[in-house]
Amino acid sequence: MTMAEKMYLPAVFQGLSITMRHFFKKKATIQYPEQQRPIGKEFRGLHVLRRDEQNRERCTACGLCAVACPAEAITMVAGERKKGEENLYREEKYAVTYEINMLRCIFCGLCEEACPKEAVFLQNNKMAPPRYERDEFIYGKDRLLEPLDAGNSKENIKYRY
Ligand code: SF4
Ligand code: SF4
Repeated sequence: MTMAEKMYLPAVFQGLSITMRHFFKKKATIQYPEQQRPIGKEFRGLHVLRRDEQNRERCTACGLCAVACPAEAITMVAGERKKGEENLYREEKYAVTYEINMLRCIFCGLCEEACPKEAVFLQNNKMAPPRYERDEFIYGKDRLLEPLDAGNSKENIKYRY
């Protein structure tokens, strides 16, 4: 063994050459969430609970989406519409609470397919953003429901269909 080999010099230079080669290669990773990769048209992202043309909630809390969900990610509490609330809820029954656990969700889209009222949709331009606390992945109506001024914001909500 030469003196250089005894001092691991060939191995050190070999390692350095590999490091330098990768240093100038195009990075495979991106700085998510600041940077995002282009999303396909068929992408299944964050859910949204839609309103009808008169801004009334479409969901009737029938529970079909929860039954269809293979991850058991959806829970809801149904309530009866009271007199005078016809402008808020489209049908006599509505979801008092509606929650999706985004940590359980596998974004399969079965809830969307199961819904007979076209109330729940997956957006194709938005993902559930990263959070530090587990609780923050439980999305309630406050974050799922289409905003009332959907006129403007609708442009930002992209559905798959
Ligand atoms: S996308 Fe799939 S896993 Fe997620 S809530 Fe809907 S049915 Fe459940
Ligand atoms: S989102 Fe659709 S399927 Fe789910 S409870 Fe509401 S109406 Fe029923």
